[in-house]
Amino acid sequence: MLDKVKDLYQEIDHYIVSSPEQLEQFRMRFISRKGVITELFEHLKTVPQADRRAVGQELNGLKNLAQERFDSFSQLIDEQRSAANNAPPVDLTLPTIPNLTGTQHPLTLVRQRIIQIFERIGFNVADGPEIETDWYNFGALNFPDNHPARDMQDTFFIEKSENGSPSSDVLLRTHTSNVQIRLMERQKPGTAFQPIRSIMPGRVYRNETISARAHCMFHQVEGIYIDRNVGFKDLKDTLYHFVKEMFEPGTQIRFRPSYFPFTEPSAEIDISCQICGGKGCNICKHSGWVEIAGSGMVDPQVIANCGIDPEEYTGFAFGMGIERITQLKYVVNDLRLYTENDVRFLRQFEGL
Ligand SMILES: [Zn+2]
Repeated sequence: MLDKVKDLYQEIDHYIVSSPEQLEQFRMRFISRKGVITELFEHLKTVPQADRRAVGQELNGLKNLAQERFDSFSQLIDEQRSAANNAPPVDLTLPTIPNLTGTQHPLTLVRQRIIQIFERIGFNVADGPEIETDWYNFGALNFPDNHPARDMQDTFFIEKSENGSPSSDVLLRTHTSNVQIRLMERQKPGTAFQPIRSIMPGRVYRNETISARAHCMFHQVEGIYIDRNVGFKDLKDTLYHFVKEMFEPGTQIRFRPSYFPFTEPSAEIDISCQICGGKGCNICKHSGWVEIAGSGMVDPQVIANCGIDPEEYTGFAFGMGIERITQLKYVVNDLRLYTENDVRFLRQFEGL
């Protein structure tokens, strides 16, 4: 019987209670009238008279220990319960914290839309370096040596000599036309000609003071199509399609003769003003027309510069500013907004 009492001492010592259910189990086992300790007291009369007093004392000690433990476990559980009850109540009338999702930048939206429109008529997307040599940015495109675009005022050269003139011919590209040259050069002499039908979106750089109407970094999408029998009609068809897909229904388009060093003939493309519908406003300078792109038939000399026979292959090219298209589509009147990361501006494009 003493062994049994010692085992119970051990058991109570190691007992852990952390929930009301466990507290009840402890009570049933050690405290209640059907518990093990009551049972042992009932067996006390079977213990020989000589030992009864000593065993009785042990049993009383056990009973007191069980009660002490039960009291402290009860206190612990009560404290847990009141801590849970004192937690501030949930106020169901409070407004929820809005789940803010990011927005796509308007230039990303417009660039993706332009790519989508041209991909559906068979153009693929090409990429090229933003740091370029004079040849790919100017020379191969028929820019004469004395062309003003080559001036330090307009172009960022990577290295300058002490007197300020460019000491190398490495520069930040001023347009994405360098990719056109690289695409044409990729044709391997002696193998079958692979028609080129690509658009090239990307960043370009000009040495301009940043203002509402000018920036030193902006985005272009150029396109080129070189194959046998590509004519001006194909250029017109392609750009008519683009304008129809990109802008409001009923938008008018016109081709205006122009000059670029790398195309002949050249044309600038105007569309009827998206803001006033052609009636005249500040955006279109009251003419009813806004310019969106430059284009033309690729100059045979440029084709020859890339090692392709201009007698056999012809093509057209076009280029437009993504900022410009975005301005017309969403009436953005200050170029600086695109790079200032003002959330009040960016949030307006949520869900587009
Ligand atoms: Zn207008």
